[in-house]
Amino acid sequence: MDINNHVIIAGAGPVGCTAALILAQAGVKVTLLESAASLIEDLRASTFHPPSLDMLDELGVTEKLLPQGLIASKYQYRDRTSGAYAEFDLGVLSDITKHPYRLQCEQYKLTRTIKPMLEETGNADIRFSTAVTSVTNHADHVEVTIDGPEGKDTLSGRYLIGSDGARSEVRKEMNIEMEGFTYPELFLVVSTDFPFEDHLPNLSHVNYISDSEEWCTILRVPGFWRVLFPTIEGTSEDELLAPDKIEERMQRLVKSDAPYNIVHTTLYNIHQRVAKQYRVGNVLIAGDAAHLNNPLGGMGMNGGLHDVFNLCPKMIDIIQNGASEDLLDLYERQRRDVTIDFIQSQTIQNKKNIEQMTQEQRLEHIDGLNKMIADPALAAAFLSRNNMFDALKRAAEIT
Ligand SMILES: Cc1cc2nc3c(=O)[nH]c(=O)nc-3n(C[C@H](O)[C@H](O)[C@H](O)COP(=O)(O)OP(=O)(O)OC[C@H]3O[C@@H](n4cnc5c(N)ncnc54)[C@H](O)[C@@H]3O)c2cc1C
Repeated sequence: MDINNHVIIAGAGPVGCTAALILAQAGVKVTLLESAASLIEDLRASTFHPPSLDMLDELGVTEKLLPQGLIASKYQYRDRTSGAYAEFDLGVLSDITKHPYRLQCEQYKLTRTIKPMLEETGNADIRFSTAVTSVTNHADHVEVTIDGPEGKDTLSGRYLIGSDGARSEVRKEMNIEMEGFTYPELFLVVSTDFPFEDHLPNLSHVNYISDSEEWCTILRVPGFWRVLFPTIEGTSEDELLAPDKIEERMQRLVKSDAPYNIVHTTLYNIHQRVAKQYRVGNVLIAGDAAHLNNPLGGMGMNGGLHDVFNLCPKMIDIIQNGASEDLLDLYERQRRDVTIDFIQSQTIQNKKNIEQMTQEQRLEHIDGLNKMIADPALAAAFLSRNNMFDALKRAAEIT
């Protein structure tokens, strides 16, 4: 194989699969390495923002994803204690996006959609049960040691993309530090088929709910509602996951005569961290390997997709047209800067907003949002920032 036309990708999550498809559709040979035995049925991300749908559309993915999810053209900030709410309509963004809505769709549906498309290109070698274990940078290529079903082996490629998630081996191999902090509490996600829409009037598919006792988000995916709760620092995982404690939480949220049918529960550590570098020589990192944020606003996976829609066209330009490798430093400047200035700052602010405990603060927040909604220009500006258009616009301005 011609090493110069070969990119190795560690991790077949949403970010690695998308990177592989962008490159393979352009004629670059890719080897996609995944340590798990198959694509992971990961329930974490459920919100695709409009710009991500626009980008995935260029690959032919969006049309396949849309029927697998729910279109959320409106979303809400609600206060459970008073019942007040503000509802934003993404329709005001129709002039800047082909997809003026969020798609509520589990992230595993993206990777499952992409895999056969990758196979169709004839340019992708997908290897499961194969972990990247070490990486050596050379002046004009990279060497990757893998541990797979046939034992250890070494692969060479022009570049390696580390999209191997929060605990990235590629990032560790490159000694890249993650700067930032971890919240002391865990987040609990509970999925249920309980019909919240029959009990909370005018509920949309995406709802950020403040409260005097316990805030939460209620998000719809096909067949289920997913409720995200904060937890109290120091409580043991066993106690947080105990079925009777989960039942109590759900009953506090909406009283039900019958016990809740709980289909899934998971606890997550929540970080706000960004890698100090996105590039070391011929090794690039993207997605959770490069940045982590709390899930309020749904920006982690979307930000990772935006990384590879920035990085991969630059790689193609270098490989196929001899463009300067300085483009890879530009990737780092563009994506790292907006991750800090937009994604980190917005998600930290989203957490502060939803945590407000006094009724006065909460109502003031919702009142402020309703004033924005009443003015289409202000509403469009708010939605453009919160649905990641501003971050992409800013990235494009960085030279
Ligand atoms: C509760 C919750 C809700 C969320 N909701 C949203 C949302 O609505 N919208 C949003 O945008 N984001 C959301 N996120 C964040 C989102 O889930 C992540 O940002 C996203 O999964 C990152 O994708 P990735 O491909 O970078 O990494 P991952 O999805 O973690 O994939 C990494 C892959 O690499 C593989 N791997 C690991 N090590 C190796 C190795 N050494 N060699 C080979 N393969 C390896 C792993 O097995 C895995 O398949 C949420 C997160 C949480 C916790």
